[in-house]
Amino acid sequence: MSDTVWRPEDDPNIRPPLQEGQVYRSDILDVIETSLDGLSGELRTLSLDIHDHPELKFEEKYAHDTYTAFMEKHGFIVTKNYHLETAWMDALPGIGHACGHNLIGMSGVAVALAAKAAMENLNIDGKVILLGTPAEEGGFGKVMLYEKGAYDEMDVCLMCHPAPGPRHSISLSGCLAISRITVEYQGHTAHAGLSPWEGQNALDAAVLAYNNVSLLRQQIKPTHRVHGIFEGKDWAPNIIPDHAIMQWLVRAPTTSEMEDTRKRVISCFESVFHYRLVRMTKQYYIFAQSGCTRIWMQSSSYGWIGRQRNQAKQSTCGLVLNVVPGDELADVVLKRYGAIDYEWGIKSASTDFVSVSHIQKVRES
Ligand SMILES: [Zn+2]
Repeated sequence: MSDTVWRPEDDPNIRPPLQEGQVYRSDILDVIETSLDGLSGELRTLSLDIHDHPELKFEEKYAHDTYTAFMEKHGFIVTKNYHLETAWMDALPGIGHACGHNLIGMSGVAVALAAKAAMENLNIDGKVILLGTPAEEGGFGKVMLYEKGAYDEMDVCLMCHPAPGPRHSISLSGCLAISRITVEYQGHTAHAGLSPWEGQNALDAAVLAYNNVSLLRQQIKPTHRVHGIFEGKDWAPNIIPDHAIMQWLVRAPTTSEMEDTRKRVISCFESVFHYRLVRMTKQYYIFAQSGCTRIWMQSSSYGWIGRQRNQAKQSTCGLVLNVVPGDELADVVLKRYGAIDYEWGIKSASTDFVSVSHIQKVRES
């Protein structure tokens, strides 16, 4: 299945052959399917409602109120504003729920309700916790909640994310380790016509650094990703810009590969300046000054909780796949629903769930 490419024109009625697995509880799956069939209309309405009300990271108030009301209605004991003011899934600036976080929210709700139904119907002991986490898009929402102890009570934690892939497949791919770098250039403004030689052009510095990265891309592996944007305010063509910010993301399949590429990217930012490195408490800042322009860099990554709480040596980390539940999932999917994919999914994207996936690993070590 891994070499099967998904295409929009594929016939959805052609299904892959099912395979026999090792572990299988058809009675549980029957209850889950009946439960979800009954909820299907409500879940679809919920998903479209959230899709129509996209909220950016840490602004998920509508989502928080909508999901918590939904769960209360379905018999869950709800703790509102749990550790953080907002909750549930966020959207992207300008393009709304293009990452499908409305589907993540709806899926989490569906899984929790179906698990509750299965436990009640079949007298299975246990506790289902549905944790609505905000700010997946660069806000480290799950990391913050972990720091506040929101995961302490859990033995097992599952999360799913929509992604492209072959029809009727579920992906068990990994995802990329990621690091965010904020770069700020500070210069000096001047009138661009009357006295440009008095100016210190921060935008020029950012453009040079951006071009450095563009040239670097030819020499990085095709599995790595480096992408960034400019941000500025009070810019006008007749004023020398005195301040420019760049936001960058560096991704690679493993932590060490990502760190290597990150160093090369940072060199692109530094290369315009003489600099000295100053280490702050939790983050790294690079302060530089060379006559005209200063540069600050702040870097963070989805793996830092591993360092902070456990003093482990790793810096940033890729997704740790838990083989046991992964195999169980594959077993059920292959036997009853379709195929397992390892090539698509969020293989070339990243998620703050990476940090949660490391918790178990660090606890074990
Ligand atoms: Zn996402």
